[in-house]
Amino acid sequence: MYEQVKLSYGFEELEPYIDTLTMQTHYGKHHATYTKTLNELAEKAGVADIPIEDLLSDLSIVKDPALRNAIKNNGGGFYNHNLYFSIISPNPAAAPSGILKEKIDSTFDSADELKAKLKAAALGQFGSGWAWLNVDKAGNLSISQSPNQDNPFSEGLAVKPILAIDVWEHAYYLKYKNLRADYVDAFFKILDWKEVEKNYELVTG
Ligand code: MN
Repeated sequence: MYEQVKLSYGFEELEPYIDTLTMQTHYGKHHATYTKTLNELAEKAGVADIPIEDLLSDLSIVKDPALRNAIKNNGGGFYNHNLYFSIISPNPAAAPSGILKEKIDSTFDSADELKAKLKAAALGQFGSGWAWLNVDKAGNLSISQSPNQDNPFSEGLAVKPILAIDVWEHAYYLKYKNLRADYVDAFFKILDWKEVEKNYELVTG
């Protein structure tokens, strides 16, 4: 059973950066539906006991092409939003610290430079998709972007995402309309670097 991440904050607590109605719809409808559908499809395909990261990394275990594609889309929707909703907070750590900060500084010069590059990836994703900060097993950081509900696992990259920016219009359109850049700026105001750091340390030990 794949479970939607529990929020550590209320839908209204991310105001004014993310509005309450967007949170209600995004978490309560979109993410909930991806999760429900994934569970149904995974059950049908007999793969419901496989951890989601492993499943998305090798979908060849699902023989039926239509079922495989639906699991990629809904499994991505499930996983991607679990990461996204877990790294934003009404009381975020405003900057990275510790080993992650050192790695960011040595890779991108500064957290501001990293944010500029992530923003460029978020704005450069044509149509719906995601921007990512990833880490490989050696602790190296990289930025990537994905269309739809794809992610570094389903794309076969040997990295794990530790920071996700959702750039589907459903993530921002009610408040920001066509202004994706304003939404990305607002996202950084509620990005909790403490959670990103935890994700980094989970991979690098
Ligand atoms: Mn979304």
